[in-house]
Amino acid sequence: MEYEPVIGLEVHAQIHTKSKMFCSCPVVKDTGDLEPNTYVCPVCTAMPGVLPVINRRVIEIAIMTGLALNCEIPPVNCFARKSYFYPDLPKNYQISQYELPLCVNGYLDIETESGPKRIRICRAHQEEDTGKLYHVGAGVSHVDLNRAGVPLLEIVTEPDLRSVEEVLAYATKLRAILVYLGVSSGDMEKGMMRFEANISVRPVGTDQLNPRHEVKNLNSFRALARSTAYEIADQIATLEAGGAIVQQTMGWNEAQEVTVPQRGKEHAHDYRYFPEPDLPPLEISREWVAELRARLPELPDAKKARFVADYELSDYDASLLVEERAVADYYEAVVAAGKAAPKTVANWVIGALFGLMNESGQEIGQVQVSPEALAELIGLVEEGAINANTGKEVLGEMFASGRRARQIVEERGLAQISDTGALEQIVAQVLDESPDQVSTYLGGKEQIIGWMIGQVMKATHGKANPQVVRELLQNQLEAKRS
Ligand SMILES: [Zn+2]
Repeated sequence: MEYEPVIGLEVHAQIHTKSKMFCSCPVVKDTGDLEPNTYVCPVCTAMPGVLPVINRRVIEIAIMTGLALNCEIPPVNCFARKSYFYPDLPKNYQISQYELPLCVNGYLDIETESGPKRIRICRAHQEEDTGKLYHVGAGVSHVDLNRAGVPLLEIVTEPDLRSVEEVLAYATKLRAILVYLGVSSGDMEKGMMRFEANISVRPVGTDQLNPRHEVKNLNSFRALARSTAYEIADQIATLEAGGAIVQQTMGWNEAQEVTVPQRGKEHAHDYRYFPEPDLPPLEISREWVAELRARLPELPDAKKARFVADYELSDYDASLLVEERAVADYYEAVVAAGKAAPKTVANWVIGALFGLMNESGQEIGQVQVSPEALAELIGLVEEGAINANTGKEVLGEMFASGRRARQIVEERGLAQISDTGALEQIVAQVLDESPDQVSTYLGGKEQIIGWMIGQVMKATHGKANPQVVRELLQNQLEAKRS
């Protein structure tokens, strides 16, 4: 029997705000050396008698994200208490949303091997993060509440994903949108995005939803992909051996690359959800939604379409350039700073620049070559001052040192020889020294001219303009026929 996976994804994204969700404690990026319990107050440590106050900026950002994900924004939403006991949760409940979330009925279109596919998003809601536990050994754990009350957005899909590739395509695109919106830095290492994958399998051609495994707390794209692939294979193997899948929560053991059962599945009623009595239902005016919609930046799909239409880029090149907003901005700045065709600029960015970034592990924000400096280099190649190979070499040096192209070309004497007088002599000399190749050429095998160009390039240490060399060679060879 053939099986197909049925996967839904929940994404928890930390929202970039100055202060926490229900108090004015600052949200500080945890770089690892932060003193524990220094960004806390009576509200986020749940002292008796305190009351939460909603951070307006969080709601604004959450609505904009919902709009970017094609969601409806219902006129009223409601906070709810999700009750459970855990030592990193001082209130013993988390303020979340349950029956009336902020955003509903959206979707995200992803690219798959068989074309575009729409992934439905059933809801996006707002909630607060918990603190963190540090297990220091010998039955002792420490709690740090710096993260308690940091705003999170939980974005939940319908079970529309059918493969690991689709899961990754969705997660990558969602991350790009969150970064475009400035909602999140998308920094996986710092826990800015966490995933939970709900995975089941069923015979191909059927449409039932079988008991699923919920794989929690996946902190990287790699863990998401590996654990999903593991679950799919493991569930199919279990069914084929005559076993049954029990609905439960799983954890991912990174070291052994296996999922492990954590506890029995909780049901919504275990959390005793009920409307948060300390907060009123939140009314969202249509005017506010319209105002936020107008403030949405250009998103990856729209930017890609514009790059294809305005810059005459291929679909593929445009996708690569819009994946990161910072890269797209960099590319457009290079185009604006020079006279080269946008397609030529795209080739330099995707080819030479991405190559150097991959080698060095640098992000676009760390690159020392400014858009103006790259435009200047491309200009030197376009006007024939240096050839394309030298240009790549110069870019390597600019990338390493942050110096400008013109300076490097002058200092190293890299300017291309286009002066025909100087080149004519070298061409004549190469032909004199290669009588056999000349007869081959005159005998009709004209492709040997490539070898001759190579000899001239060698004699000029790569500085000759190959176009000019070809013309001079052709002229002198044709002259030998008579
Ligand atoms: Zn606080």
